[in-house]
Amino acid sequence: MLLIGPPGAGKGTQAHALSDALGVPAISTGDIFRDNVRNETELGRQAKAYMDAGDNVPDSLTNDLVRDRLGQDDCAGGFLLDGYPRTTDQVRALDEFLAGQGASMDAVIELVADPDVVVERLRKRALDQGRADDDESVVRHRLTVYREQTAPLIDVYAQRGLLSQVDGIGEIDQVTERIRSALAERGIRVPA
Ligand code: AMP
Repeated sequence: MLLIGPPGAGKGTQAHALSDALGVPAISTGDIFRDNVRNETELGRQAKAYMDAGDNVPDSLTNDLVRDRLGQDDCAGGFLLDGYPRTTDQVRALDEFLAGQGASMDAVIELVADPDVVVERLRKRALDQGRADDDESVVRHRLTVYREQTAPLIDVYAQRGLLSQVDGIGEIDQVTERIRSALAERGIRVPA
């Protein structure tokens, strides 16, 4: 399953809630990149400048990282992706990976959030967490990158009949409930 939506839509928060309930790992490429930057790995060194600028890290680096992560044992029973795929090339790489495993996607949840609300949320997160890429001008750039490179994927998944759109504005539990109902409509039960 995957969660898609603009930066600040609450994907990470919802991914954690769903991952606990479903008993599958939530995999956030953003978190993995941030860990690598913090630990000063080679991957972190290569990714940092893109992240600080609010640009996508190149597909080749990102796809390798995800293939590696999804190949680990804890992903055998399923996984929830947060923040990947973000480009059409990443969709292709994920399709290839899944086909190689004889697996397929069950659902894509789009968390819908108005850009003004998102900018305000990220302004608060910048104060709380001090993420360099939550600086307002970088946030605006990340929204542009989302609109240009990631939003087109929504149509791709809609055409495959996998997309459920969920209003991402509201209390955390309320949004989780909306996702739960959207998944229930697809026959996917999320334990409470
Ligand atoms: P996030 O935590 O999902 O907002 O991601 C933070 C930053 O990590 C992004 O602005 C990108 O620089 C990088 N990143 C995360 N996921 C991806 C991805 N799937 N493709 C390219 N870059 C990514």
